[in-house]
Amino acid sequence: MDLGIKGKRALVCASSKGLGLGCARALAEAGVNLVMNARGAEALEAAAQAIRDDFGVAVETVACDVTTEAGQGQVLEAADAADILVTNAGGPPPGMWTDWDREDFIKALDANMLTPIALMKALLPGMMERGWGRVVNITSQSVKAPIAVLGLSNSARAGLTGYVAGTARQVAGHGVNINNLQPGIHATDRAEALDRGVAEREGIGMDEAKAQRCATIPAGRYGTKEEFGAACAFLCSQHAGFIVGQNILLDGGAVNATM
Ligand code: NAP
Repeated sequence: MDLGIKGKRALVCASSKGLGLGCARALAEAGVNLVMNARGAEALEAAAQAIRDDFGVAVETVACDVTTEAGQGQVLEAADAADILVTNAGGPPPGMWTDWDREDFIKALDANMLTPIALMKALLPGMMERGWGRVVNITSQSVKAPIAVLGLSNSARAGLTGYVAGTARQVAGHGVNINNLQPGIHATDRAEALDRGVAEREGIGMDEAKAQRCATIPAGRYGTKEEFGAACAFLCSQHAGFIVGQNILLDGGAVNATM
């Protein structure tokens, strides 16, 4: 399917690895020029070069922490007038509700709620003026079905989801669509780290921790970053112009709900 976005320009945050990289590669495959970001310069440049080689699109890299004001300034300077914004950052650490203090919540809100909001606030006016734009926020299945040990994530991402619900409807009339993708478990470093936590806590091997988690997913496996990226690219395509303010689960059926 031709996604109809060849030649557009996208800022894809936190994209040297994992789900962000899946999104960057799928957009590049559709002919979109990229600004990619991550903190570690080496992995970021390697990922960008692979994309240039594979898809022949222009890729700029900005190595910085996108959850800081300075980092947001840097990516926005490079991605001025972007047509497409994919927001992403690392997820908050797991723990217990008894562990978290105000500072922990502030950090999680900064990373997973206020950073995407700041980037949208900066880029939406230009998209609206030009009459076309797409925003995809990478959130989590934990918005739909809480994951107890990820209380910081549950809270911050629910806040972002509320913001998007209202804002998406305010900008849709200008050809700008904002939606959220809610990943369930995908085979990335983040999933590996979560499995390692379970293995250590329960004194079991990594294979067993992974098998236990797979048993909770009707599809019987983890998602891939390629599948995730393809869904993101579709939401950024010309075909997605009537999809407004939605939260789309990619979880292999893990959330047991009718709607
Ligand atoms: P990942 O494999 O660990 O990759 C994270 C990527 O983000 C890396 O490129 C990393 O590079 C970059 N990054 C992290 N923090 C950053 C920051 N502050 N500024 C700029 N770049 C940053 O993670 P993932 O699995 O793709 O997860 C992406 C998001 O989806 C996370 O918020 C995660 O909580 C959420 N999620 C993931 C899953 C899953 O199963 N994978 C499920 C639900 C939700 P650097 O470290 O070099 O910065």
